[in-house]
Amino acid sequence: MNRAFLAIFVSATLILLLLPEGAALAAAFDPEAATEAYLASVPAEDRAASDAYFEGGYWLILWNLLYGLAVAWILLASPLSRRMRDFAEKRSKRKFLQTALYALQYLLVTFVLGFPITVYQGFIREHQYDLSNMAFGPWFGEQLIGLGVGLVIMGFGIAVLYMVMRKSGARWWLWGGAVSTVGLAFLIMFSPVFIAPLFNDYTPMEEGPLKAEIISMARANGVPAGNVYVVDQSRQTSRISANVQGMFGTLRISLNDNLLEGGTTAEIKAVMAHELGHYLLGHIASMIIQIGLLLMVGFAFVAWSFDRARARWGANWGIRDITDPAGMPLLFALLSVYFFLATPVFNSIIRVNEVQADIFGLNVAREPDGFATIALKLGKYRKLDPGHWEEIIFYDHPSGRSRISMSMRWKAENLPEESAD
Ligand SMILES: [Zn+2]
Repeated sequence: MNRAFLAIFVSATLILLLLPEGAALAAAFDPEAATEAYLASVPAEDRAASDAYFEGGYWLILWNLLYGLAVAWILLASPLSRRMRDFAEKRSKRKFLQTALYALQYLLVTFVLGFPITVYQGFIREHQYDLSNMAFGPWFGEQLIGLGVGLVIMGFGIAVLYMVMRKSGARWWLWGGAVSTVGLAFLIMFSPVFIAPLFNDYTPMEEGPLKAEIISMARANGVPAGNVYVVDQSRQTSRISANVQGMFGTLRISLNDNLLEGGTTAEIKAVMAHELGHYLLGHIASMIIQIGLLLMVGFAFVAWSFDRARARWGANWGIRDITDPAGMPLLFALLSVYFFLATPVFNSIIRVNEVQADIFGLNVAREPDGFATIALKLGKYRKLDPGHWEEIIFYDHPSGRSRISMSMRWKAENLPEESAD
């Protein structure tokens, strides 16, 4: 027996031993049985915990909407919103600055009033399910950094939106949608460079065979990236993630330390190939356009409903018209109702892209079992086996079952070559 043959024999035996029964290579490979075997390998109590975590998230969509509406009601029904506008108008004669100054107050007040649900959702609940690695102090510090970034970006963005409203009249939703799409593109282009480093460190991945394989996959598919970076996200969370972020000069391939330390070579290759898929399939650009359009329809909904809502409930709110900053809580309340109703559309836009990247990743990495086991790991915080409509409505990524079944189907179709290795 020569050494190469021995190595293949040993690794094949190892794969057979490590795979759940039924998922192993067999003469008659049954992708459905293999999928069931993978799903059955998760202990019932783990499954119950991740189901509870994920299903709780469905309710949080509703609670966030209702909570946000209550905050808007407090601002509008009390004199608070009007006083914030009057304060802004006293400070500056220029409409742009008045709106920006109102927006800063609005963002601060909603941050403070929204803090209880933010703490529950982002801190308490994440700890309950063992997903957060942060103590309260550092977590709160990051909330403040996020607030600071939000004040700058949103303060400016909102002032621009209101300027568009004043200049373009009844068709403001059209121009507002277009301008927001451009803003979104800039945000996505620059956030890896300016925002992400505020929360995490990016260090070049240690040289070695795994890094060489990742760069080789990128090179083979024409992705212009010379390096791979590791993000220290274990500071915040136990979740795994990776990214091919940015555009043009800001392009960066990264994976987080949870994936690097907890993943096998096959799993990491499977994930990185998926991320390369997002980049190569043009998902960054198509996502910006699709979300921009969704936002434009949202603005159209606001344009249609703003005066109706004001006439129905807001006789005493003192809002002059839609361009009056004092009406901002109403504008965002209506937008949040729209995004609540558009949840399945928003999730489906992203999920369809994810499915494409999944298939791309399987074809490039050729690691169906690595992708299946990573789907099980992601199943720690994403319900593994939802109903058909449940997945369409609530999932922005395919469920574990969908991904494993996709991987096993791929494996079944590619099995003759795989076993001939
Ligand atoms: Zn993805």
